[in-house]
Amino acid sequence: MPPRPGDRRALDVLVDYEAIYPDRTPLPVPVVSIAEDLLGLRVHAAPDLGASGLLAPHDRLILINADEPLERQRFTIAHEIGHWIVHCGARTGTTNATLCRAVSEESHTDLREREADSFGAELLMPTPHVYEAVAVTGANVDILAETFAVSRQAMTWRLFNLRLSRGPETP
Ligand SMILES: [Zn+2]
Repeated sequence: MPPRPGDRRALDVLVDYEAIYPDRTPLPVPVVSIAEDLLGLRVHAAPDLGASGLLAPHDRLILINADEPLERQRFTIAHEIGHWIVHCGARTGTTNATLCRAVSEESHTDLREREADSFGAELLMPTPHVYEAVAVTGANVDILAETFAVSRQAMTWRLFNLRLSRGPETP
């Protein structure tokens, strides 16, 4: 089975960002700055959110759960950026007023949630950067998770989806 294709639109966002801020280090991907400086969104961490995150398109606001680990918050921001780009027409010029769903455990079957997850994974762990890093350090989940500032779990799945590892270890 070939590698699962990532969302090309996430790589486009990174290209746009790098064109405007060529001097900023690419890794870990500066996801807050991408949301705020490139896309004109505000990112706000809130306690007791009752979900991992929320995108309020009208307010151009991403709320993230302040009680969750930083790596998880980074993934949530990338996921909400995915909703903004993919579902709210930010790059197509339409003004879709859809309020995007909060991230929750039971939402994984929702196509839009899967699309936002796929976008988020590509944004935080861009295919070319992951291949480059693996060429240098090998498919070492601990090193790669630290380099990309993501959870071990997120990196494990990323390597699996890119066919760079045999998959999550089964207990
Ligand atoms: Zn979502």
